[in-house]
Amino acid sequence: MADQHWPEVYRKLGVKPVINAQSWVTALGGSLMRPEVLRAMDEAATAFIDMKELNRAAGKVVARACGADMGLVTAGCSAAEVLMAAACMTGVDESKVERLPNTRGMKNEILLFKGQRNRYDGAFEIAGARIVEFGHGDSARPYHLEGAFTDQTCAVAYVIGPFIRQGIGLEKTIEIAHAHGVPVIVDAAAEVPPRENLSRFIKMGADMVAFSGGKGLGGPQSAGLLAGRRDLMEAAYLNSLNLDSPKAGIGRPMKVSKENIVGMVAALELYMDTDEAAIIDGWRSKAGYIVRKLEGIPGLRVVIEDTPVDRQGPQPVIYFERDWKGPSPSEVRQRLLSGDPSIRVGGGGVRDEINIALVNVQDGEEKVIAERLVEALT
Ligand SMILES: *Cc1c(COP(=O)(O)O)cnc(C)c1O
Repeated sequence: MADQHWPEVYRKLGVKPVINAQSWVTALGGSLMRPEVLRAMDEAATAFIDMKELNRAAGKVVARACGADMGLVTAGCSAAEVLMAAACMTGVDESKVERLPNTRGMKNEILLFKGQRNRYDGAFEIAGARIVEFGHGDSARPYHLEGAFTDQTCAVAYVIGPFIRQGIGLEKTIEIAHAHGVPVIVDAAAEVPPRENLSRFIKMGADMVAFSGGKGLGGPQSAGLLAGRRDLMEAAYLNSLNLDSPKAGIGRPMKVSKENIVGMVAALELYMDTDEAAIIDGWRSKAGYIVRKLEGIPGLRVVIEDTPVDRQGPQPVIYFERDWKGPSPSEVRQRLLSGDPSIRVGGGGVRDEINIALVNVQDGEEKVIAERLVEALT
């Protein structure tokens, strides 16, 4: 399509924009920042500051938003996962901080429900920890967790995300872990919106919680939030910002620029004032448009799904029924991807259905998506 917006910076590199109906995925650039965020980052680039001071000040904004003792802007949720693991192993002992990823003399086992294993959890091990699984692939009982503690357990990790199983649930996990004197660290990367999730898991008793900054929060793609209990957060600071110690810590390769810190704070503050309901209504009306255009194609069941956690906002989902005679879901995906503009849709989740995540679909793009879907399907 000749009239598609192609920013000059990408044109010069020969990289074409795509329509992102796949959600806040890293592979397509996370999310788009609002002009206020970009202006804040521009301004941040015009002066030098003391980075420790800036981190502490930004951390206070994060702490307030999350209802936690302390907060920190990190280089994404994955970086926050590294720091949570490191903090639980070292505490505020600087000799231990210096030693990572060698965990000699430290507790280094992180318990994780087998059904919550995911492509990001390797971040928990980067600092030298070892993941110890409990439960089965699809279910767990409290006694599975109980039986997994050893004198080397430093944390219980808990992951919340689309199509990730809940196992015994966060509440029970916290109850059992705390009875063993062990902290619970939570990966809630993509769980905002809703806004109340920023403080929800801390309120439930989680000791540390991590979010992506470049997903629903609309901050820089390589930023994230970490919030939690004071002693563990001080330990996270030590592991990432021991800027004047002789040896840089495990967090050094995950530094956050002053521009990204300021951009993240601006995005977070904007988000706290955002009319979430209006945004979600916008997604719903785009979903309605697409579903109407796909009505009555035999062999397809097209519905709007709005299940919290699994689906990020209301979105059309196309199920291919047994009597479907057209192209396979993967062929439809390929047709959308290889067209102009390239359209990237979701990979389903339940089976091989196609889901159209609307969180990153710009106004008007729903029309292009609907038209191209009809073409690809018929
Ligand atoms: C996206 C995601 C991450 C990684 O977050 P980044 O901010 O991209 O580092 C980690 N865990 C889960 C469950 C995610 O969805």
